[in-house]
Amino acid sequence: MRYISTRGQAPSLAFDDVLLAGLARDGGLYVPEAWPQFSQAQWRALRDRPYAEIAAAVLRPFVGGTIADADLERLATETYAGFGHPAVAPLKQLGPGLWTMELFHGPTLAFKDYALQLVGRLFDHVLAAKGTRVMVVGATSGDTGPAGIAACMDRAAVDIVMLHPNGRTSPVQRRQMTTVLSANVRNIALEGTFDDCQDAVKALFNDLEFRDRYNLSAVNSINWARVAAQIVYYAHAALSLGAPDRTVDFCVPTGNFGNVLAAYGAKRMGLPVGRMIVATNRNDIMARTVATGRMALEAVAPTVSPSMDVQISSNFERLMFELNARDGAATAAMMAKFRADGRLEFAPSQHADLAAEFDAGACDEAATLAEIGATYRTTGELIDPHTAVALHVARKARRGNNPVVVASTAHPAKFPDAVERATGVRPALPPRLADLFDRPERVEVLPNDLARIKQVVSDLASRTK
Ligand SMILES: *Cc1c(COP(=O)(O)O)cnc(C)c1O
Repeated sequence: MRYISTRGQAPSLAFDDVLLAGLARDGGLYVPEAWPQFSQAQWRALRDRPYAEIAAAVLRPFVGGTIADADLERLATETYAGFGHPAVAPLKQLGPGLWTMELFHGPTLAFKDYALQLVGRLFDHVLAAKGTRVMVVGATSGDTGPAGIAACMDRAAVDIVMLHPNGRTSPVQRRQMTTVLSANVRNIALEGTFDDCQDAVKALFNDLEFRDRYNLSAVNSINWARVAAQIVYYAHAALSLGAPDRTVDFCVPTGNFGNVLAAYGAKRMGLPVGRMIVATNRNDIMARTVATGRMALEAVAPTVSPSMDVQISSNFERLMFELNARDGAATAAMMAKFRADGRLEFAPSQHADLAAEFDAGACDEAATLAEIGATYRTTGELIDPHTAVALHVARKARRGNNPVVVASTAHPAKFPDAVERATGVRPALPPRLADLFDRPERVEVLPNDLARIKQVVSDLASRTK
């Protein structure tokens, strides 16, 4: 299996290099040169198998021999053994034909753990084989930071420095980062905004001498391995509900489009996925694009579901590549036009292709809180605001008789204020995190000064020299 860029100009790579590469050299995103296909019999054989076994089976064709089968199976088993629910991604029925798939049983209580916990181990394995190490550097507003740190902590060939804006992340999010005391982890609380953090990280990557000296790397959402690892829970859920002998729809709370793209990947692999419903908060560019075929940027508005406060959905380029019949030049031209104009119109036939598989809807702030409240009153379940957005949209956009599975992307205790406002109940952290607020923290509060940030990186690097 080789991987090609959505912009058609970068050299093709094998899985192990794609894992470490991030963005392709032509600015595109890597995708498999062809989608692997499972027969109905292959899917059926995976039904009722443990999550880790389904993970190894789904990932095997993507890994394409770059990691030995036995190693892949071991890494998958280790990864999901650490999750807080024996089913790993359990389904819960909320109504007739309506389910949530709980993706918050990983170490940081958000769906990103399901891919990143495995990707951290894959990184380590591949780096050990190549005899090198990497320094992951990232900026977070509070969302990807905890999952990124949890993925990298205590890995032998990986160090990580994470920047967050001092005093501007939620207390749960900050503590999920700063209470990690592993020797290979450093947290910087920058005196500035999230944009300052991001600019600082960009400056480090643009300093090519620095970047090469420390082998800087990222664990961002455009990494192909993350998408591949996310396909697993769609397969697991659909198989649990009777696939391949039954078709299942999914509704996904969407920001960067990485999660819903994995549902699309599962479908392309031959899993009977019906409609894929893209749910957004009031930052609704993706919902508008699916509904109208016109993509138009607007300003980002803050919401109670902050992990979806996104206007440029980076992973959408992978679907655009498919809508362009895998024509890299056409995709590159579209992306250039969108960057220049902030808007883009799909051809009617392309919009028809998009609408043949995807539905969409947006949910405003009042409806999000109302959904949390109504779900609690009618089912007794506390749900987080991201899940609420998707549940609201699923109820409205549903058509036909397929079961609809809503991706529940965060534990309610990650967003306790919104949940309490909507229900009067303050959700408790699960037992394994109950002492989060008693754990010691380690964090360096730094002025927005690149030299000081570089010093943290080089100090951390010198640890293993
Ligand atoms: C990251 C995130 C999302 C958005 O997922 P994308 O893959 O970026 O579309 C939704 N909900 C939660 C809780 C998240 O952390």
